[in-house]
Amino acid sequence: MRCEDILRCLCDYIDEELDALTESCFLDHLEQCARCAALLHTVEKTIDLSRDIWPRQARLPKKVIRRVYYQVRIHYRQR
Ligand SMILES: [Zn+2]
Repeated sequence: MRCEDILRCLCDYIDEELDALTESCFLDHLEQCARCAALLHTVEKTIDLSRDIWPRQARLPKKVIRRVYYQVRIHYRQR
C-alpha cells in the first residue's frame, strides 16, 4: 500500500468499513510511514474533538467525517 492508498482508505477505516485484509495492509503501512501515522493521529484527534460537540451520537454523522477527511487531504497536499 502506498500513501495515496492510505488516503483513499482513511475514511473507510474510520467508519470501520475496511475488510480485514485491507485493514491489515493499512496498519502495516502506518507502522512504516511516519507521515501517514501522523495523518491518522490528526484525524483521530479531530474526531475526538467533534465527539465532544455531538456527545449523544455513538457514531459521528458521515458528513462530519467527510469534512475532516477533506480538510486533511488539503493539508496533506500542501506539504
Ligand atoms: Zn504513507
